[in-house]
Amino acid sequence: MPDARRQPMEAGTEQVGDCDAVIVGAGLAGLYMLHRLRGLGLTARVYEAGSGVGGTWYWNRYPGARCDIESMDYSYSFSDALQQEWRWSERYATQPEILRYINHVADRFDLRRDIQFGTRVTAAIFDAVTNRWTIQTDDGERVSAQFCIMAIGCLSTAQTPRFPGLDTFKGEWYHTGNWPHAGVDFTGQRVGVIGTGASGIQSIPIIARQATHLFVFQRTPNFTIPAWNAPLDPEHERHLKANYAEHRRKNRESRAGFVVPVSDTPALEATPDERQRAYEARWARGGFGFTSAFADLSTNEEANETAAAFVRARIRAIVRDPAIAEALSPRDHPIGTKRLPLDTDYYDTFNRDNVTLIDVRKDPIEAITPDGLRTRDAAYALDRIVFATGFDAMTGALLTIDIRGRAGCALQRKWAEGPRTYLGIAVAGFPNLFIITGPGSPSVLSNMIVSIEQHVDWIADCIASLRARDYAAIEATIEAEDGWVAHVNEVANTTLYPKANSWYMGANIPGKPRIFMPYIGGVGAYRKKCDEVAAKGYEGFTLIA
Ligand SMILES: Cc1cc2nc3c(=O)[nH]c(=O)nc-3n(C[C@H](O)[C@H](O)[C@H](O)COP(=O)(O)OP(=O)(O)OC[C@H]3O[C@@H](n4cnc5c(N)ncnc54)[C@H](O)[C@@H]3O)c2cc1C
Repeated sequence: MPDARRQPMEAGTEQVGDCDAVIVGAGLAGLYMLHRLRGLGLTARVYEAGSGVGGTWYWNRYPGARCDIESMDYSYSFSDALQQEWRWSERYATQPEILRYINHVADRFDLRRDIQFGTRVTAAIFDAVTNRWTIQTDDGERVSAQFCIMAIGCLSTAQTPRFPGLDTFKGEWYHTGNWPHAGVDFTGQRVGVIGTGASGIQSIPIIARQATHLFVFQRTPNFTIPAWNAPLDPEHERHLKANYAEHRRKNRESRAGFVVPVSDTPALEATPDERQRAYEARWARGGFGFTSAFADLSTNEEANETAAAFVRARIRAIVRDPAIAEALSPRDHPIGTKRLPLDTDYYDTFNRDNVTLIDVRKDPIEAITPDGLRTRDAAYALDRIVFATGFDAMTGALLTIDIRGRAGCALQRKWAEGPRTYLGIAVAGFPNLFIITGPGSPSVLSNMIVSIEQHVDWIADCIASLRARDYAAIEATIEAEDGWVAHVNEVANTTLYPKANSWYMGANIPGKPRIFMPYIGGVGAYRKKCDEVAAKGYEGFTLIA
C-alpha cells in the first residue's frame, strides 16, 4: 500500500495503516476494481487467500475445466488495447488459458504491487463515528479503509459433503474447486467421482480416458448441451475484433451478457416438426443458446418439457444401454432451471467398458472406507476420490467473514433467513460496503465478466461521486432493500427456476434457506435500473456527510 501510515499495534494484531479502499479477492472482479480505483487516485489494498491472481481460474484446475461462455465474450472489455492484442486459441477457453490471460492482465496493468496473497480476510467491522471499516486478516493484520469491497466470488467456497469415514480413506481425494497445482494423473487408478454438476460433467470424460476404472456416483442427473469446442476460427476472431465495441454493447444490453438468437415464438404455438427442427439446429450449434429456442421455455412447464424430451431422446440415441440412458435422464427439474453445463463427450463416456454409473438416489452412499466407498448395497474399491460437489454459492464466502455493520449487527444474523441486498450491491445497515455480483444481481445467471465490469464501473462511479461531493458514506435504505428483495422474488416466481433443487436456491447446502438468490430480470434491464438509481442521485441510498 503506497501511503500506509503505520499505527500503534494492538494485542494480537498488527495495524498496518489505512487506505481508501480494501478489496477482498483477486479474481476478475478484484483486479478490475483495483484498476478502476487507482484510476480515480484512491489507495487500495487487495487481500487474496490464494497465492496468485485468478480466483475461480486459480482454484479450479481439474481436468477439463473450461469456460462455458465463448472466449471472445468471456474477457474484459474495459481496455480496447487488451482485447485487441490478446489471442484466444479455442471457441471455449481452457482453465490454463484463462489463468494465463488473467496473469497477463495483472502484469499489463501492474496490479500485483497492491495485492497481498496468501491472506484471508476474517472480519470487517464498521465504525459509525469515523464511517470507516476495520478489516482483519488471518495473519493478524488490521487495516482501516473508508470503503470495503467484497470481490470474493459467487463460487469460491468449495463444498465437500461430510461422509463418515473420509479421514480413514487410504487413497487421495480432491475437490474440483481446490485442485492440486501439480495436477493429478489418474493412469492405472480406480477413481470415484461424486457429483454430476458442471464440474463433474467437464472432468468425467477426461478422467475416464486415464483411469483403469471410473465409478460415477450420481445423485441428480443433469441436462447438458454439447459445447462443440474447436480452435477459434481466425475469420471469426478478425470480424469480432473489428466490431468489438458494438459486440460488447450488445452483450451488455442482452439478457444474459452474451448474444444468442432468442426466439419470440412460444414452443406450444409451433408444430412438433418445427420444434424438432429448432432443437436440432440449436443442438448442432451447441452452447447456451439451446434454451432460447422458444420464448416460453423458462416460464411454461409444458413448453419446457418439449425441450427436455428432446434432450432425453438424444441421451437415448447416444447411450447404448437403455437402463444407463434412463438413469442419466433428468426427470425432476425443468431444463435450464439448474446451471446448464456444456459438455464434450459426456453421455458417450457411459458407453465405455471402464465406466460405471451408480445412482445414489436408489443406492445412497453410506460411508467412505479405508479402501474406497460403501453404498447401502455395495462396496467400491477406489484409489482416488474426486468430489465434484460444488460450492456454497453466492453467500458462502461472505458469511465466512465476520462482517459487522451499524451497532455491531452481524451480516450472518441479518441474512439468517436468506440474503437481503439493494441491487445485489449494497446492504442496509452496512454503509460503504459493496458486493460485486452479490445475491440479488444477475451474477451467476449471466456471462459473469459482463456483470463484474458493470458492478465495478457502478461502484467506481459511485465512489467518485461521493468524493466529488464530499460525502463520507453511502448506505442503502431499508425500504429500498425491502423493495428490491420483493422484486427479485417476484421476477423469479414468474419463471420455472424456483422449481428446481438447485444451488441457485441454496438447495445443495444442508440447512441453507431456500431462496432464489440471483436476479433473473436480465443483464440489460438490470444495468438500466442501476444507471437510473445513480442518475437520480443514488435513489434508495442515504448519503452521509
Ligand atoms: C468451475 C467453474 C466454471 C465457471 N464457468 C463459468 C463460465 O463458463 N462463465 C461464466 O460467466 N462464469 C463461470 N464461472 C463463474 C466464475 O466464478 C466467474 O466467471 C468469475 O471468475 C468470478 O470472478 P470473481 O472475481 O467475482 O470471483 P472469484 O474468481 O471466485 O474470485 C474470488 C477470490 O476471492 C478470494 N477470497 C474469497 N474469500 C476470501 C477471503 N475471506 N479473504 C481473501 N480472499 C478471499 C478467493 O480466494 C478468490 O480467489 C465458473 C465458475 C466455476 C467455479
